[in-house]
Amino acid sequence: MTTSAPNRDRLPPSLRTEALEQLLVERGLVDSAVMDKFIATYENDVGPLNGAQVVAKAWTDPEYKERLLAEGTSAIKELGFGGPQGEHIVVVENTPDVHHVVVCSLCSCYPWPVLGLPPSWYKDPAYRSRMVREPRAVLAEMGLTLPADVEIKVWDSSSEVRYLVLPQRPAGTEGRPVEELAAMVTRDTMVGVAEVGS
Ligand code: FE
Repeated sequence: MTTSAPNRDRLPPSLRTEALEQLLVERGLVDSAVMDKFIATYENDVGPLNGAQVVAKAWTDPEYKERLLAEGTSAIKELGFGGPQGEHIVVVENTPDVHHVVVCSLCSCYPWPVLGLPPSWYKDPAYRSRMVREPRAVLAEMGLTLPADVEIKVWDSSSEVRYLVLPQRPAGTEGRPVEELAAMVTRDTMVGVAEVGS
């Protein structure tokens, strides 16, 4: 007689995660207050707003942009952003000819200090496998149709290196203050699945 998989394997991931957390707390391996604080930090204080500041600074300060593209991690640290999952960040610049997009084909590596926690679609197996094989089609499905002559470069994040896309600055935004520019930069534009609207 074959035994079927235990029921717990069929529970949705959120319930399984909760059960796992409960076990860890019960056994004294994890302090739930510390965990809550950690999650709150990444949900409220650390997020795409940080990355947007980096992008807006690069758009308005050519010397900063040069440092950012040459040594992402330290240039990002100049603005006060760093920490777990941001030990080595490489910044890639979109141009009219080349569009960069980021994926983690193995799991969900993501530059936390500048983008916060990854959205669920980033962790989706379909996004992770298809973005590597057919980026143009996946981008189009996500609402970003790129001209055929634009080259698409896919960057596969790992626990060693995480990527941040420097999106193109929209035309007609000359002279706008940095804060206003930062407000235009969304999370998706820094993963490379969208462009900054004007
Ligand atoms: Fe990963």
